[in-house]
Amino acid sequence: MTVSSNETRPAVFLDRDGTIIRDVDYCGDPAQVEVFPGAADALRRLKANGYQLIIVTNQSGIARGYFSENDYRAVELEFLRQLGDDLIDDTYYCADLPEINSRRRKPAPGMIFEAQRDHHLDLARSYFIGDKTSDIECGRNAGMRTILVQTGYGAREIDCRADWIARDLAHAAEFILGVNG
Ligand SMILES: [Mg+2]
Repeated sequence: MTVSSNETRPAVFLDRDGTIIRDVDYCGDPAQVEVFPGAADALRRLKANGYQLIIVTNQSGIARGYFSENDYRAVELEFLRQLGDDLIDDTYYCADLPEINSRRRKPAPGMIFEAQRDHHLDLARSYFIGDKTSDIECGRNAGMRTILVQTGYGAREIDCRADWIARDLAHAAEFILGVNG
């Protein structure tokens, strides 16, 4: 399908670790990648309903020297392989350390705006799903509606200012499709 430059599409932005895969703290080994049950089906339903699927992930493990950029890419390939081909439209990652004044590291919205430009996205019709307060703040900073999932760190971050709280990614997808359907 050809998309003209002035046509915009909605997206679901997703954190990766603790939201789609089990959070193992600084995952630099493809053998540790474990997609949550039901996550791929939930993403397929969102995609079938017209949402672009964009991963936005902080990977300070690279800057900390815990794993290399090549290790990150190997993890990314295994992640995409487990989810199935052509499901994720794009991935943005930030290697910056938390103490750096970063325009890209969540909760800063830099990666969101890069994706908006690259994929002609309408943020007002888009969502951010993640398991940490920094995900929710990132989505809010970009003017999106936000959903906290209680997988990963989410059960501990319940006081964040998310628009909705979901048990997991499948539950979050139901929220999105129910609201708009
Ligand atoms: Mg996370």
